[in-house]
Amino acid sequence: MDVFGLLGNPVGHSLSPPMHEAAYDELGMDARYVTFEPDPDDLGRAIEGAAALGISGLNVTIPFKEDALDHVDPDDLAARIGAVNTIDFSGDEEKPPTGHNTDAAGVRRSFAHHDVTLAGKDAVVVGAGGAARAAAFALADAGAAVHIANRTVERAERLADDLKGSTAGGLASLESHVSDAEVLVNATSVGMEEDVSPVPAEALHADLAVLDAVYRPLDTRLLREARERGATTIDGAWMLLYQGVEAFERWTGRDAPVSAMNEALRARL
Ligand code: NAP
Repeated sequence: MDVFGLLGNPVGHSLSPPMHEAAYDELGMDARYVTFEPDPDDLGRAIEGAAALGISGLNVTIPFKEDALDHVDPDDLAARIGAVNTIDFSGDEEKPPTGHNTDAAGVRRSFAHHDVTLAGKDAVVVGAGGAARAAAFALADAGAAVHIANRTVERAERLADDLKGSTAGGLASLESHVSDAEVLVNATSVGMEEDVSPVPAEALHADLAVLDAVYRPLDTRLLREARERGATTIDGAWMLLYQGVEAFERWTGRDAPVSAMNEALRARL
């Protein structure tokens, strides 16, 4: 039996187990997906222990995504983003496992699923935390020109510096940049706890494709207001789905059964 899993703390409400196990069921695989909650000080020992136990792959979530970089051999994208959410143990046993960031692929593939091309587009990312870094690198690597807007301007500037060739500003810069943009990603937690949007509704328009990383609730105020103005809207479950799809495909070398995984995920949201 192959064992995959998730390292995080807490992981009790994670949607990854049902999503991945739906893929194993669909493909008739003898595999399980298990959650682990190590103490923050024990992350290195947890990853070494997983390797010793023959675990095939691990996802990594809050609060370990940044610290995991120190315990794996990160690929170029994960190193640039500064966070690992997927560990692959299939390489040389004498070496550390490889670390990857499939949140970026989650963003790229969410847009592709909705037939939104990114090359040459003007894009705006709201936020400068972990999800925003993954989104910003995904968009920039796909050839979009990216503006970062964040409540804490210094964080936006740091991310824009890391991206090279991008611009940054505070939330007040959103209205003018979104009005002129074709792609928008909300990668803040705004919209989760309260029915508020981080983007002024007046800036939204029909030539915009909007991805909201927030997936609880699925239909955020930002998405509702964007839809009312004729924009293409993409909810946060797509990003969650495609980061999982990308991890599954890396670990197994097989095409993921996307529909089965999507159904399992959405049944729980
Ligand atoms: P994070 O690293 O803690 O970053 C949080 C971001 O939200 C920061 O940019 C922060 O701005 C901003 N923010 C928080 N409260 C705000 C407020 N009241 N007004 C304006 N900005 C505010 O978190 P994260 O891991 O990037 O996650 C961000 C969101 O993305 C969460 O809702 C998370 O659930 C979601 N997410 C979704 C997926 C998916 O697959 N769909 C994956 C990862 C994350 P400051 O820098 O100014 O503090």
